[in-house]
Amino acid sequence: MRVLIVGAGIAGCALFHRLKSHTIDVDIIEKSTVLTNEGAAICLPANAMIELDKLGMSDTIIKCAHQVNSIEYALANGETLAKASLMEAPLSKGPFVALKRDELMRILRAGIADKIQLHTWPTDIQQTENGVFVTLNHGPSKTYDLVVAADGINSQVRQMVQPDTSLLKHKVTNWRFIAPAPSDNFQPVYYVGNTTLFMIYPISKDEVYCYAHVTDTAKIYYDMPTKEALYSLFANYTAPVLHCLNTMPSSEHIIRGELKSVMKTDSVFQGVVLIGDALHGCPPSLQQGAGMSLEDVNCLADQVINHLDNLPQALSNYEKARGARIAWTVNESNKIIKLAGLGESFIGRLVRNFILRRKGPANVVGWRKLLADD
Ligand SMILES: Cc1cc2nc3c(=O)[nH]c(=O)nc-3n(C[C@H](O)[C@H](O)[C@H](O)COP(=O)(O)OP(=O)(O)OC[C@H]3O[C@@H](n4cnc5c(N)ncnc54)[C@H](O)[C@@H]3O)c2cc1C
Repeated sequence: MRVLIVGAGIAGCALFHRLKSHTIDVDIIEKSTVLTNEGAAICLPANAMIELDKLGMSDTIIKCAHQVNSIEYALANGETLAKASLMEAPLSKGPFVALKRDELMRILRAGIADKIQLHTWPTDIQQTENGVFVTLNHGPSKTYDLVVAADGINSQVRQMVQPDTSLLKHKVTNWRFIAPAPSDNFQPVYYVGNTTLFMIYPISKDEVYCYAHVTDTAKIYYDMPTKEALYSLFANYTAPVLHCLNTMPSSEHIIRGELKSVMKTDSVFQGVVLIGDALHGCPPSLQQGAGMSLEDVNCLADQVINHLDNLPQALSNYEKARGARIAWTVNESNKIIKLAGLGESFIGRLVRNFILRRKGPANVVGWRKLLADD
Protein backbone atom coordinates (compact mmCIF):
# COMPACT_ATOMS: atom_id res chain seq x y z
CA MET A 1 0.00 0.00 0.00
CA ARG A 2 1.21 3.55 -0.84
CA VAL A 3 0.34 6.29 1.63
CA LEU A 4 1.11 10.03 1.49
CA ILE A 5 0.97 12.00 4.74
CA VAL A 6 0.66 15.75 4.14
CA GLY A 7 2.00 17.72 7.14
CA ALA A 8 4.64 16.83 9.73
CA GLY A 9 2.98 18.24 12.85
CA ILE A 10 1.72 16.19 15.81
CA ALA A 11 -0.76 14.14 13.74
CA GLY A 12 1.44 13.55 10.67
CA CYS A 13 4.55 12.50 12.63
CA ALA A 14 2.60 10.21 14.95
CA LEU A 15 0.90 8.51 11.98
CA PHE A 16 4.22 8.06 10.19
CA HIS A 17 5.55 6.22 13.29
CA ARG A 18 2.50 3.94 13.33
CA LEU A 19 2.60 3.06 9.61
CA LYS A 20 6.34 2.89 8.90
CA SER A 21 6.84 -0.41 10.67
CA HIS A 22 4.32 -2.23 8.46
CA THR A 23 4.32 -3.31 4.83
CA ILE A 24 3.26 0.18 3.83
CA ASP A 25 5.20 2.53 1.58
CA VAL A 26 4.77 5.88 3.39
CA ASP A 27 5.86 9.33 2.21
CA ILE A 28 5.57 12.34 4.50
CA ILE A 29 5.77 15.89 3.16
CA GLU A 30 5.97 19.22 4.99
CA LYS A 31 5.58 22.64 3.45
CA SER A 32 8.01 24.40 5.83
CA THR A 33 11.65 24.61 4.80
CA VAL A 34 12.79 23.74 8.35
CA LEU A 35 11.14 21.76 11.13
CA THR A 36 9.96 24.50 13.49
CA ASN A 37 7.72 24.09 16.51
CA GLU A 38 5.33 26.97 16.78
CA GLY A 39 3.69 27.23 20.16
CA ALA A 40 5.06 27.85 23.61
CA ALA A 41 3.85 24.76 25.46
CA ILE A 42 1.12 22.18 25.31
CA CYS A 43 -1.18 20.61 27.89
CA LEU A 44 -1.89 16.92 27.43
CA PRO A 45 -4.99 15.60 29.18
CA ALA A 46 -5.19 11.93 30.16
CA ASN A 47 -6.63 10.74 26.82
CA ALA A 48 -3.65 12.24 24.97
CA MET A 49 -1.30 10.34 27.30
CA ILE A 50 -3.24 7.10 26.77
CA GLU A 51 -2.76 7.51 23.01
CA LEU A 52 0.94 8.37 23.41
CA ASP A 53 1.29 5.20 25.44
CA LYS A 54 -0.01 3.22 22.42
CA LEU A 55 2.76 4.89 20.40
CA GLY A 56 5.31 3.80 23.02
CA MET A 57 6.13 7.43 23.84
CA SER A 58 4.41 8.17 27.15
CA ASP A 59 7.42 7.29 29.36
CA THR A 60 9.69 9.62 27.37
CA ILE A 61 7.07 12.38 27.52
CA ILE A 62 6.63 12.00 31.29
CA LYS A 63 10.36 12.55 31.77
CA CYS A 64 10.17 15.98 30.05
CA ALA A 65 6.73 16.96 31.32
CA HIS A 66 5.11 18.17 34.51
CA GLN A 67 2.11 16.37 35.97
CA VAL A 68 -0.71 18.41 37.51
CA ASN A 69 -3.42 17.13 39.84
CA SER A 70 -6.10 19.81 40.05
CA ILE A 71 -7.71 22.56 38.00
CA GLU A 72 -9.11 25.81 39.37
CA TYR A 73 -11.24 28.53 37.79
CA ALA A 74 -11.01 31.88 39.58
CA LEU A 75 -12.12 35.47 39.10
CA ALA A 76 -9.59 38.11 38.05
CA ASN A 77 -9.14 39.07 41.73
CA GLY A 78 -8.18 35.48 42.59
CA GLU A 79 -11.49 34.43 44.23
CA THR A 80 -12.09 30.75 43.48
CA LEU A 81 -15.12 29.96 41.32
CA ALA A 82 -14.61 26.21 40.98
CA LYS A 83 -11.96 23.61 41.63
CA ALA A 84 -11.66 19.92 40.69
CA SER A 85 -9.24 17.11 41.40
CA LEU A 86 -7.81 15.22 38.41
CA MET A 87 -7.04 12.21 40.57
CA GLU A 88 -10.58 10.76 40.61
CA ALA A 89 -12.22 8.36 38.11
CA PRO A 90 -12.66 8.64 35.17
CA LEU A 91 -9.99 11.40 35.04
CA SER A 92 -7.46 9.16 36.78
CA LYS A 93 -7.27 6.85 33.71
CA GLY A 94 -4.05 8.65 32.79
CA PRO A 95 -1.85 11.54 33.92
CA PHE A 96 -2.54 15.19 32.99
CA VAL A 97 0.77 16.74 31.97
CA ALA A 98 2.16 19.80 30.22
CA LEU A 99 5.49 20.39 28.51
CA LYS A 100 7.26 22.68 26.08
CA ARG A 101 5.89 22.13 22.60
CA ASP A 102 9.37 21.75 21.11
CA GLU A 103 10.04 18.86 23.54
CA LEU A 104 6.88 17.09 22.35
CA MET A 105 7.84 17.62 18.69
CA ARG A 106 11.41 16.46 19.34
CA ILE A 107 10.03 13.19 20.72
CA LEU A 108 7.49 12.78 17.91
CA ARG A 109 10.14 13.44 15.23
CA ALA A 110 12.87 11.28 16.78
CA GLY A 111 14.13 8.79 14.19
CA ILE A 112 11.95 10.11 11.35
CA ALA A 113 13.20 13.68 10.76
CA ASP A 114 15.32 12.61 7.76
CA LYS A 115 12.25 10.99 6.14
CA ILE A 116 10.26 14.23 6.13
CA GLN A 117 10.41 15.88 2.69
CA LEU A 118 10.62 19.59 3.47
CA HIS A 119 9.35 22.48 1.35
CA THR A 120 6.95 20.08 -0.34
CA TRP A 121 3.19 20.35 -0.76
CA PRO A 122 0.47 19.10 -3.10
CA THR A 123 -0.60 21.44 -5.87
CA ASP A 124 -3.29 19.10 -7.21
CA ILE A 125 -5.10 15.96 -6.06
CA GLN A 126 -7.21 13.83 -8.40
CA GLN A 127 -9.16 10.73 -7.38
CA THR A 128 -8.72 8.12 -10.13
CA GLU A 129 -9.61 4.44 -10.58
CA ASN A 130 -6.04 3.51 -9.66
CA GLY A 131 -5.86 5.65 -6.55
CA VAL A 132 -5.20 9.27 -5.68
CA PHE A 133 -3.02 11.05 -8.22
CA VAL A 134 -0.97 13.74 -6.45
CA THR A 135 0.98 16.54 -8.11
CA LEU A 136 3.55 18.17 -5.85
CA ASN A 137 5.14 21.63 -6.05
CA HIS A 138 8.31 19.87 -7.19
CA GLY A 139 9.41 16.35 -7.99
CA PRO A 140 7.48 13.64 -9.85
CA SER A 141 3.71 13.18 -9.55
CA LYS A 142 2.70 9.91 -7.92
CA THR A 143 -0.39 7.79 -7.35
CA TYR A 144 -1.19 6.77 -3.77
CA ASP A 145 -3.79 4.40 -2.36
CA LEU A 146 -4.34 6.79 0.52
CA VAL A 147 -3.61 10.48 1.07
CA VAL A 148 -3.80 11.65 4.68
CA ALA A 149 -4.43 15.36 5.27
CA ALA A 150 -2.53 16.22 8.46
CA ASP A 151 -1.89 19.78 7.36
CA GLY A 152 -3.55 21.68 10.18
CA ILE A 153 -6.60 23.88 10.60
CA ASN A 154 -6.02 25.77 7.34
CA SER A 155 -5.69 22.44 5.50
CA GLN A 156 -5.02 22.89 1.81
CA VAL A 157 -5.89 19.24 1.16
CA ARG A 158 -9.29 19.72 2.83
CA GLN A 159 -9.90 22.66 0.50
CA MET A 160 -9.07 20.45 -2.49
CA VAL A 161 -11.49 17.67 -1.60
CA GLN A 162 -14.32 19.47 0.16
CA PRO A 163 -16.25 22.45 -1.20
CA ASP A 164 -16.76 25.34 1.24
CA THR A 165 -14.27 24.76 4.00
CA SER A 166 -14.59 28.20 5.54
CA LEU A 167 -13.68 28.46 9.22
CA LEU A 168 -15.73 29.89 12.07
CA LYS A 169 -13.86 32.88 13.53
CA HIS A 170 -14.54 33.43 17.23
CA LYS A 171 -13.24 37.04 17.26
CA VAL A 172 -10.99 36.12 20.16
CA THR A 173 -7.31 37.18 20.15
CA ASN A 174 -4.89 35.07 22.19
CA TRP A 175 -1.27 35.11 23.32
CA ARG A 176 0.94 32.27 24.58
CA PHE A 177 4.28 32.38 26.38
CA ILE A 178 6.40 30.69 29.02
CA ALA A 179 7.27 32.51 32.27
CA PRO A 180 8.93 31.64 35.59
CA ALA A 181 6.48 29.98 38.05
CA PRO A 182 4.78 32.44 40.41
CA SER A 183 5.22 30.09 43.42
CA ASP A 184 6.22 26.54 44.35
CA ASN A 185 3.80 23.70 43.58
CA PHE A 186 1.58 25.94 41.46
CA GLN A 187 -1.46 24.06 40.08
CA PRO A 188 -3.27 25.23 36.91
CA VAL A 189 -5.59 28.22 37.36
CA TYR A 190 -7.83 29.85 34.75
CA TYR A 191 -8.54 33.46 35.81
CA VAL A 192 -11.68 34.80 34.12
CA GLY A 193 -12.44 38.50 33.71
CA ASN A 194 -15.24 40.22 31.84
CA THR A 195 -14.01 39.65 28.29
CA THR A 196 -10.62 38.22 29.18
CA LEU A 197 -9.06 34.98 30.41
CA PHE A 198 -5.56 34.26 31.72
CA MET A 199 -4.45 30.66 32.23
CA ILE A 200 -1.33 29.70 34.21
CA TYR A 201 -0.38 26.02 33.80
CA PRO A 202 2.91 24.64 35.18
CA ILE A 203 5.23 22.86 32.74
CA SER A 204 8.01 22.20 35.30
CA LYS A 205 8.57 23.11 38.93
CA ASP A 206 10.15 26.39 37.77
CA GLU A 207 8.16 27.40 34.68
CA VAL A 208 4.56 27.96 33.67
CA TYR A 209 2.73 28.12 30.37
CA CYS A 210 0.61 31.28 30.11
CA TYR A 211 -2.34 31.55 27.74
CA ALA A 212 -4.26 34.82 27.63
CA HIS A 213 -7.22 35.84 25.51
CA VAL A 214 -9.74 38.61 24.95
CA THR A 215 -12.96 38.96 23.00
CA ASP A 216 -11.70 41.28 20.27
CA THR A 217 -14.55 41.93 17.83
CA ALA A 218 -12.93 45.06 16.37
CA LYS A 219 -9.40 43.50 16.39
CA ILE A 220 -8.14 46.34 18.58
CA TYR A 221 -5.86 44.16 20.73
CA TYR A 222 -4.70 41.99 17.83
CA ASP A 223 -3.19 45.05 16.18
CA MET A 224 -1.64 46.51 19.37
CA PRO A 225 2.00 45.88 20.36
CA THR A 226 1.99 42.62 22.34
CA LYS A 227 3.13 43.82 25.74
CA GLU A 228 0.98 46.94 25.61
CA ALA A 229 -2.08 44.77 24.88
CA LEU A 230 -1.31 42.32 27.68
CA TYR A 231 -0.67 45.04 30.28
CA SER A 232 -3.77 46.98 29.32
CA LEU A 233 -5.93 43.86 29.61
CA PHE A 234 -4.51 42.15 32.70
CA ALA A 235 -2.93 44.90 34.87
CA ASN A 236 -5.81 44.68 37.37
CA TYR A 237 -5.55 40.88 37.72
CA THR A 238 -4.39 39.07 40.85
CA ALA A 239 -0.73 38.61 41.94
CA PRO A 240 0.21 35.38 40.03
CA VAL A 241 -0.95 36.95 36.74
CA LEU A 242 0.97 40.17 37.47
CA HIS A 243 4.03 38.04 38.23
CA CYS A 244 3.72 36.38 34.79
CA LEU A 245 3.26 39.77 33.09
CA ASN A 246 6.27 41.22 34.87
CA THR A 247 8.47 38.27 33.91
CA MET A 248 7.13 37.57 30.41
CA PRO A 249 9.70 37.09 27.64
CA SER A 250 10.39 39.59 24.88
CA SER A 251 7.57 40.05 22.36
CA GLU A 252 9.18 37.84 19.71
CA HIS A 253 8.78 34.87 22.10
CA ILE A 254 5.10 35.59 22.65
CA ILE A 255 2.82 33.91 20.13
CA ARG A 256 -0.32 35.78 19.09
CA GLY A 257 -3.24 34.16 17.30
CA GLU A 258 -6.98 34.16 16.68
CA LEU A 259 -9.36 31.37 17.69
CA LYS A 260 -11.02 29.51 14.81
CA SER A 261 -13.02 26.31 14.35
CA VAL A 262 -13.74 24.03 11.43
CA MET A 263 -17.42 24.12 10.45
CA LYS A 264 -17.61 20.55 9.06
CA THR A 265 -16.14 17.37 10.47
CA ASP A 266 -16.47 14.95 7.51
CA SER A 267 -13.32 12.86 7.50
CA VAL A 268 -13.28 10.59 4.43
CA PHE A 269 -13.33 11.62 0.74
CA GLN A 270 -12.71 8.40 -1.24
CA GLY A 271 -8.93 7.91 -1.01
CA VAL A 272 -8.31 11.07 1.03
CA VAL A 273 -8.75 11.08 4.80
CA LEU A 274 -8.52 13.95 7.27
CA ILE A 275 -6.86 13.75 10.69
CA GLY A 276 -5.79 16.22 13.38
CA ASP A 277 -6.61 19.91 13.10
CA ALA A 278 -7.38 19.47 9.39
CA LEU A 279 -10.40 17.52 10.62
CA HIS A 280 -11.30 19.11 13.96
CA GLY A 281 -9.29 22.31 14.52
CA CYS A 282 -11.08 24.32 17.22
CA PRO A 283 -10.32 26.56 20.24
CA PRO A 284 -8.10 25.01 22.92
CA SER A 285 -10.87 25.26 25.57
CA LEU A 286 -10.68 21.49 26.23
CA GLN A 287 -7.00 21.23 25.26
CA GLN A 288 -8.01 18.36 23.01
CA GLY A 289 -5.96 19.24 19.89
CA ALA A 290 -3.24 16.68 20.55
CA GLY A 291 -5.54 14.18 22.28
CA MET A 292 -8.06 14.07 19.42
CA SER A 293 -5.25 14.06 16.81
CA LEU A 294 -3.54 11.09 18.47
CA GLU A 295 -6.87 9.27 18.81
CA ASP A 296 -7.37 9.80 15.04
CA VAL A 297 -3.87 8.46 14.37
CA ASN A 298 -4.22 5.29 16.40
CA CYS A 299 -7.74 4.61 15.12
CA LEU A 300 -6.75 5.15 11.46
CA ALA A 301 -3.51 3.17 11.78
CA ASP A 302 -5.30 0.23 13.45
CA GLN A 303 -7.92 0.19 10.70
CA VAL A 304 -5.43 0.45 7.82
CA ILE A 305 -3.09 -2.20 9.29
CA ASN A 306 -6.00 -4.57 9.96
CA HIS A 307 -7.53 -4.08 6.48
CA LEU A 308 -4.51 -3.84 4.21
CA ASP A 309 -6.48 -5.52 1.43
CA ASN A 310 -9.69 -3.56 2.00
CA LEU A 311 -8.98 0.15 2.35
CA PRO A 312 -12.62 1.31 1.83
CA GLN A 313 -13.60 -0.84 4.85
CA ALA A 314 -10.76 0.63 6.92
CA LEU A 315 -11.81 4.19 6.07
CA SER A 316 -15.48 3.51 6.68
CA ASN A 317 -14.64 2.06 10.12
CA TYR A 318 -12.44 5.10 10.90
CA GLU A 319 -15.23 7.49 9.91
CA LYS A 320 -17.76 5.68 12.08
CA ALA A 321 -15.44 5.36 15.06
CA ARG A 322 -14.38 9.02 15.10
CA GLY A 323 -17.42 10.98 13.84
CA ALA A 324 -19.54 11.56 16.94
CA ARG A 325 -16.63 12.06 19.36
CA ILE A 326 -15.00 14.65 17.11
CA ALA A 327 -18.23 16.56 16.45
CA TRP A 328 -18.93 16.64 20.20
CA THR A 329 -15.43 17.92 21.01
CA VAL A 330 -15.55 20.74 18.45
CA ASN A 331 -19.03 21.74 19.59
CA GLU A 332 -18.13 21.64 23.29
CA SER A 333 -14.90 23.61 22.72
CA ASN A 334 -16.94 26.29 20.91
CA LYS A 335 -19.53 26.30 23.73
CA ILE A 336 -16.84 27.00 26.35
CA ILE A 337 -15.69 30.03 24.35
CA LYS A 338 -19.31 31.22 24.28
CA LEU A 339 -19.61 30.62 28.04
CA ALA A 340 -16.49 32.74 28.65
CA GLY A 341 -17.93 35.42 26.33
CA LEU A 342 -21.01 35.75 28.60
CA GLY A 343 -18.76 37.76 30.95
CA GLU A 344 -19.26 40.82 28.75
CA SER A 345 -22.50 41.84 30.54
CA PHE A 346 -23.33 41.93 34.25
CA ILE A 347 -26.19 39.41 33.91
CA GLY A 348 -24.01 37.25 31.64
CA ARG A 349 -21.28 37.17 34.30
CA LEU A 350 -23.79 36.08 36.92
CA VAL A 351 -24.94 33.26 34.65
CA ARG A 352 -21.36 32.24 33.72
CA ASN A 353 -20.16 32.26 37.32
CA PHE A 354 -23.26 30.36 38.49
CA ILE A 355 -22.68 27.66 35.84
CA LEU A 356 -18.99 27.35 36.74
CA ARG A 357 -19.70 27.19 40.50
CA ARG A 358 -22.45 24.63 39.99
CA LYS A 359 -20.85 22.32 37.38
CA GLY A 360 -17.14 22.86 38.12
CA PRO A 361 -14.31 23.86 35.75
CA ALA A 362 -15.71 23.73 32.21
CA ASN A 363 -12.74 21.82 30.77
CA VAL A 364 -12.85 19.21 33.55
CA VAL A 365 -16.55 18.61 32.84
CA GLY A 366 -15.62 17.92 29.19
CA TRP A 367 -12.66 15.70 30.10
CA ARG A 368 -14.89 13.59 32.39
CA LYS A 369 -17.24 12.89 29.48
CA LEU A 370 -14.40 12.13 27.03
CA LEU A 371 -12.66 9.77 29.45
CA ALA A 372 -15.89 8.07 30.55
CA ASP A 373 -16.82 7.40 26.89
CA ASP A 374 -13.33 6.16 25.98
C1 LIG B 1 -3.70 28.94 21.17
C2 LIG B 1 -3.69 27.46 21.06
C3 LIG B 1 -3.38 26.69 22.18
C4 LIG B 1 -3.41 25.30 22.08
N1 LIG B 1 -3.17 24.57 23.20
C5 LIG B 1 -3.28 23.24 23.13
C6 LIG B 1 -3.05 22.43 24.28
O1 LIG B 1 -2.71 22.93 25.36
N2 LIG B 1 -3.21 21.08 24.17
C7 LIG B 1 -3.55 20.50 22.98
O2 LIG B 1 -3.68 19.28 22.91
N3 LIG B 1 -3.74 21.23 21.87
C8 LIG B 1 -3.62 22.57 21.92
N4 LIG B 1 -3.81 23.30 20.80
C9 LIG B 1 -4.17 22.62 19.56
C10 LIG B 1 -2.97 21.91 18.95
O3 LIG B 1 -1.92 22.83 18.77
C11 LIG B 1 -3.37 21.33 17.62
O4 LIG B 1 -4.54 20.58 17.78
C12 LIG B 1 -2.30 20.41 17.05
O5 LIG B 1 -1.14 21.15 16.80
C13 LIG B 1 -2.80 19.79 15.77
O6 LIG B 1 -1.78 19.04 15.19
P1 LIG B 1 -1.80 18.76 13.63
O7 LIG B 1 -0.61 17.92 13.37
O8 LIG B 1 -3.13 18.29 13.22
O9 LIG B 1 -1.64 20.19 12.96
P2 LIG B 1 -0.44 21.21 13.01
O10 LIG B 1 0.25 21.18 14.32
O11 LIG B 1 -1.00 22.52 12.55
O12 LIG B 1 0.60 20.66 11.92
C14 LIG B 1 0.31 20.75 10.55
C15 LIG B 1 1.62 20.63 9.79
O13 LIG B 1 1.33 20.60 8.39
C16 LIG B 1 2.17 21.52 7.71
N5 LIG B 1 1.45 21.95 6.52
C17 LIG B 1 0.44 22.86 6.43
N6 LIG B 1 0.01 22.93 5.18
C18 LIG B 1 0.73 22.05 4.45
C19 LIG B 1 0.72 21.67 3.10
N7 LIG B 1 -0.13 22.22 2.22
N8 LIG B 1 1.59 20.73 2.67
C20 LIG B 1 2.48 20.16 3.54
N9 LIG B 1 2.53 20.50 4.85
C21 LIG B 1 1.65 21.42 5.30
C22 LIG B 1 2.42 22.63 8.71
O14 LIG B 1 3.59 23.37 8.39
C23 LIG B 1 2.55 21.83 10.00
O15 LIG B 1 3.87 21.37 10.20
C24 LIG B 1 -3.76 24.68 20.86
C25 LIG B 1 -4.03 25.45 19.73
C26 LIG B 1 -4.01 26.84 19.83
C27 LIG B 1 -4.33 27.65 18.61
